[in-house]
Amino acid sequence: MIEEGGKRGKTMAEKRQLFMEMRAQNFDVIRLSTYRTACKLRFVQKRCNLHLVDVWNMIEAFRDNGLNTLEHNTEINVSRLETIISSIYYQLNKRLPTTHHISVDLSISLLLNFMVAAYDSEGHGKLTVFSVKAMLATMCGGKIVDKLRYVFSQISDSNGMMTFSKFDQFLREVLKLPTAVFEGPSFGYTEHSLRTCFPQQKKITLNMFLDALMADPPPQCLVWLPLMHRLANVENVFHPVECSFCRSESMMGFRYRCQQCHNYQLCQDCFWRGHASGPHSNQHQMKEHSSWKSPAKKLSHAISKSLGCVPSREPPHPVFPEQPERPLDLAHIVPPRPIANNMNDTMVMSSGAPTPTKSLSQTLTVRQCPLNALNALNALNALNALNALNALNALNALNALNALNALNALNALNALNAR
Ligand SMILES: [Zn+2]
Ligand SMILES: [Zn+2]
Repeated sequence: MIEEGGKRGKTMAEKRQLFMEMRAQNFDVIRLSTYRTACKLRFVQKRCNLHLVDVWNMIEAFRDNGLNTLEHNTEINVSRLETIISSIYYQLNKRLPTTHHISVDLSISLLLNFMVAAYDSEGHGKLTVFSVKAMLATMCGGKIVDKLRYVFSQISDSNGMMTFSKFDQFLREVLKLPTAVFEGPSFGYTEHSLRTCFPQQKKITLNMFLDALMADPPPQCLVWLPLMHRLANVENVFHPVECSFCRSESMMGFRYRCQQCHNYQLCQDCFWRGHASGPHSNQHQMKEHSSWKSPAKKLSHAISKSLGCVPSREPPHPVFPEQPERPLDLAHIVPPRPIANNMNDTMVMSSGAPTPTKSLSQTLTVRQCPLNALNALNALNALNALNALNALNALNALNALNALNALNALNALNALNAR
């Protein structure tokens, strides 16, 4: 009896662990509910290591675990959910270098308990397939546009038009996330949620769907979602600027500049908590900055802009063809397992999965040793990473060019002064 009680106690502690840790972060002192919600969900995402799982890997995991063959309202029990979550984390560790392996058991426990708290609050021990898909595809890593494309593939008909009732169902599921972190009063599901996203019940295509959900500002009930992605994007942005309130020498993340007070700048922690000092008041209008430009860069930017080198504003998402998109199940893109059949080590995954696509095995004919098979999959991942890197390099090259332009402008100015 005593042991049983102890066991139950441990389980309760496990169930509460994530929430206790979240409480210790003191997010509740953040004044704006949008930032508060986004910070809490970002915390959950990182603590569960979901930020390391790209949305494409998540979609692949849905397929490998047979979720694509099930109706959305099919219920799966918690032990099957645990199997799905386990496979997601074991696959993640296979993609990560050994030095960066995550604790699979802890991640499973935290995520499973969070999902059950969020989606099975009445304790039936069951979650619907759509709950699982909506939650994991929202809370994983990757670009918001890719996540929304996946969501659209799940809620649209064969003509590529959104089904309103299915989108309403998606809202019900996704708004359980803010509710789970105690932000239900601001962002819980209501019967008006659907109308705030699409005021008119007309035909909604993928591009219209993306336009609406990625608008600035986004629909009120989902405003925390793009913010969560922006938080992630600026997390490592460094601003060599002193915070006017806490006086820390530099800032990470967002930087806020008062539009009234001269050179009054706050770090995100101070601004979110409503701190103000001197003549500055937290009623003043503040501008949010997600990058820092040195004065020289600003000059070069101004010059390139005047020369027409800088596009005035980029569209929020690429425009996709109007034809209905095939559901993004990746069946024909990424093989479910590394190529080799001669792998007799622990790398072998679920059974009954389709054989790898021909094109990939042709491009990546590496069969000398079992490790090469894994390398083939890694190569694909590396390719993705490389693409990201190339984009970064291109950006750097642009910056270098801008710096050069600035230098030339400066030289020209000096020459002029010398005259
Ligand atoms: Zn500060
Ligand atoms: Zn001010």
